[in-house]
Amino acid sequence: MNFKFVAGLEIHVQLNTKTKMFCSCPTEGLDVPNTRVCPVCLGYPGTLPVINREAVIMAIALGKALNGHINMISRFHRKNYFYPDLPKGYQITQGDVPIIENAVLPLSTGKNIPIKRMHLEEDAAKSVHVSSSGRLAGAQETLLDFNRSGVPLIEIVTDPVFESPEEATLFVEELQATLRYLGISNAQMELGQLRCDVNVSVEVDGKEGTRVEIKNLNSTRSIRQALTYEYNRHVEAYKRGENIITETLAFDEKTGKTRTMRTKQSSADYRYFPEPDLPPLILTEELFEEANRYNGSFLDAYHNALSWTNKEADARTLALNKDQYMLYSSLAEKGFDKKLLNRMILIDLPNILSEVAKTWGDVDKTFLNSILQLQQDGKITPAVAKDLLWQAARGNDPMKYAEEHELLKHENIDIKQIISDVLQQNPDAVEKYKKGNANVIGFLLGQVMKKTKGTVDPNQTRALLEQMLNE
Ligand SMILES: [Zn+2]
Repeated sequence: MNFKFVAGLEIHVQLNTKTKMFCSCPTEGLDVPNTRVCPVCLGYPGTLPVINREAVIMAIALGKALNGHINMISRFHRKNYFYPDLPKGYQITQGDVPIIENAVLPLSTGKNIPIKRMHLEEDAAKSVHVSSSGRLAGAQETLLDFNRSGVPLIEIVTDPVFESPEEATLFVEELQATLRYLGISNAQMELGQLRCDVNVSVEVDGKEGTRVEIKNLNSTRSIRQALTYEYNRHVEAYKRGENIITETLAFDEKTGKTRTMRTKQSSADYRYFPEPDLPPLILTEELFEEANRYNGSFLDAYHNALSWTNKEADARTLALNKDQYMLYSSLAEKGFDKKLLNRMILIDLPNILSEVAKTWGDVDKTFLNSILQLQQDGKITPAVAKDLLWQAARGNDPMKYAEEHELLKHENIDIKQIISDVLQQNPDAVEKYKKGNANVIGFLLGQVMKKTKGTVDPNQTRALLEQMLNE
């Protein structure tokens, strides 16, 4: 039997607008429940929605960036369904004509992923399930937070075009980066700013398999794991001659397995009809011009990063992390040596930041500048540079620290004298070396580095040490 993985994605992205999709409630400060609400987003009868202009501009920017067909006229529709977090009884979204169709996300691997449609809509409120406060003993109670109700979303839908879990994951990572470089969404999955549903099936000998849906995957790691798990589950079932049933699944990060949420009987009929309270969305030249404000590009960043690092994996890591990339880019513009930058920005700093639980946003650029300058001028060694980064991360002024601890290289340091002192003080080691034990060099070098506080170049010192031992 021949098996083929097939998956399509449905992604909801929260746009970075200052206000909600159809009212003027702010989209910031959502953490205190029900403080960012008004009659419109609470769904009171008789209220009227107004389209958020900035959300439309952001959608146009995304459409342009991904080479989509932008519909000059589209409509908002009502998608009717009942749920406690939707007091209006319908969600305002876009129906058969979305604002953008047939776009393409070019991956860093060179492959183009087609996107079927992207449309604007409003988010629903948030249900918070808590154990009972006592009135209904033993029962669960559901609290509703309407802060999220009406927050602008763009929904991005692909056909089943993904051929492996890795490819689907790569798409989400690079879409996320694309949104961030454009500046239209922070796209943080852990904060629900980018939410991912996946349709997955397995073809057997070219014949279409049963499709299941996995809801609310909230990290790229979960996407990869859930898809791999489902692929294996389908393959095993088909090998045993069993069927897969159409159902909606949830993924459990702890067990790495999916579980049934509901079995689908038939597709829901949402009775879409045009929203009578909103005019058609007609795009103007002015809106297109304003969309040029959002113009950063992940692929451009990737190609720059590739020219700096010469390694695909490093370039991807750097470009996927916009803050890290921007830092590298601003230092590269100042003409610092790429080797020094690669070491500092790709190796030393990520380790230090994860150790002290800080983010790229916390990094003080002026300190990095000084440390790089000292290194470039040959005044400090890589080891000292790393030490100074640590000091900066701990909140100390690295320059002051370097001076106080005499870590700057001094022209007048007599390295030959220090080596000869070390050799005199360690006659046993010298004896061993003369008898052919080359390993003691490491020990002797360590002694020299200690005396010089690491301010001399280890390779040159090692060469000199060997030369003096052989004299
Ligand atoms: Zn509101």
